[in-house]
Amino acid sequence: MSPMTPDAADALTELHAHDMAGALRAGIVSARELAAAHLARTHRTDQGLHAWLSIDDERALAEADAADARLSAARAAGPDALAALHPMHGVPVALKDLVSIRGGQATAGSRILEGYIAPYDAHITERLRAAGAVILGKTNMDEFAMGSSTEHSAYGPTANPWDLGRVPGGSSGGSAAAVAAFQTPVSIGTDTGGSIRQPASMCGVTGMRPTYGRVSRYGIVAFASSLDQVGPFGRDARDAAALLHAVAGRDERDSTSAPIAVPDDLISLPAGDDEAAGWLRGKRFGIPAEYFPAGMDAGVDARIREAIAALEAAGAVVEPVSLPHTEYALAAYYIVAPAEASSNLARYDGVRFGHSIRGGSDYLSNYLATRGGGFGPEVKRRIMLGTYALSAGYYDAFYLKALKVRTLIKRDFDLLWEQGFDALVAPTAPSVAFKFGAKTADPVEMYLADACTLPVNMAGLPGITTPCGLSDGLPVGLQFIGAPWSEAALFRAARAYEGVTAGAEWRSMRPHDLAALEDPAVPTPAERAARH
Ligand code: GLN
Repeated sequence: MSPMTPDAADALTELHAHDMAGALRAGIVSARELAAAHLARTHRTDQGLHAWLSIDDERALAEADAADARLSAARAAGPDALAALHPMHGVPVALKDLVSIRGGQATAGSRILEGYIAPYDAHITERLRAAGAVILGKTNMDEFAMGSSTEHSAYGPTANPWDLGRVPGGSSGGSAAAVAAFQTPVSIGTDTGGSIRQPASMCGVTGMRPTYGRVSRYGIVAFASSLDQVGPFGRDARDAAALLHAVAGRDERDSTSAPIAVPDDLISLPAGDDEAAGWLRGKRFGIPAEYFPAGMDAGVDARIREAIAALEAAGAVVEPVSLPHTEYALAAYYIVAPAEASSNLARYDGVRFGHSIRGGSDYLSNYLATRGGGFGPEVKRRIMLGTYALSAGYYDAFYLKALKVRTLIKRDFDLLWEQGFDALVAPTAPSVAFKFGAKTADPVEMYLADACTLPVNMAGLPGITTPCGLSDGLPVGLQFIGAPWSEAALFRAARAYEGVTAGAEWRSMRPHDLAALEDPAVPTPAERAARH
């Protein structure tokens, strides 16, 4: 096979994963060509984006060759064998740098895990390998997934391809930016309070946080174990759904992973826009008044109202509803999440993982030096908050109280599912992507970026974000929230909305700063952030 021209290789990176799957089966392209095209584009364009913490060309190309070998064997065996390959077979994927790959790094964006080499594969890594996906590398993130902008990464921030002076959202900002910038068609993130949906919204891509228990957390660096869920990013609903299908399902090694069948609807979403849009007829959606807070961007509000009008025009019934305990979600989350984090992060003691400072007079001084230098300020803030909330005398007043509030938040949602709503529609984030430094001085300002996402985590529910236009030239995300295990319906809803808006001008727009990323002299996000 003759080598591809750079333009032809770049064209491959702009395909959807479902188109790649078709081209692979038809023998029009090989998994190696797809991997090589994405690796080349990533190496060429990541200086100004910094979406990646590691790229493993050698492993990716070896996985691609293995995928090609399986493809030829399937082709020889006949159409049934070809059809049995997973839609992710031969498709490149990026993993947030808190997913374990045996023999590879997993920094979780922290200095304390620098040099740590994972001794085993995460469950989702095994599942991706079984599906034949090609893992390109690991993406940047806020340290231990604590943050909403990726500015809390110990390895420097990631930029937003729509405006390189702005954040991509967080904490899975690297995974979102890499998909938006055509460095990978799909990627994996985690969402503890909004870390998939909020960056997907800010980068103009699709992202889903599945129901708690849908995806195994085995081999994922823990932040807050009762809230963490793994989920997919893609440039459309079909691609994200196929990736979720590949990684979801029961795993004996995570007792909270649910023994519930993964619906094959996830890999058979309608290809046609009209068929997709037809699903909306007669569907009943609620709009929660509490998700439109006073301080939200007027442009975001306008885009969401237009999106709701479009859903109605396509035959959906949309009714105002109330989730009265929403206003307590943020406060309760910032007790529960730090409490669990303080416990999970106790294991980083300088003995078992990564970074280790030795040479002090005793174990305690080594321990303090390791943790003092290894954790960044936001992580230390969370550990202090959590340790305080769990301490004797305060446990009942804070932690137990927060758990009770959590139950009330969940009940608000349960009542709506009992009334027969198919889903709720809301903004994903109260603002578009903000400038570097805009929220780093005030932690509470940063926490408010998740006001529309974290109640969903507190209730253990699935939520999806799909692009719904631009405000001030920056992407806005429309969120659908569903009852437990309704991922397939949420993907149907997002796919339907794509169908309804297929002709909209903003649909054909690409991130504004893709050209700037091609400039070899483009400043790094850290250099840009330092100017603020
Ligand atoms: N921004 C929220 C936090 O900092 C949520 C992060 C996440 O979902 N991982 O806790």
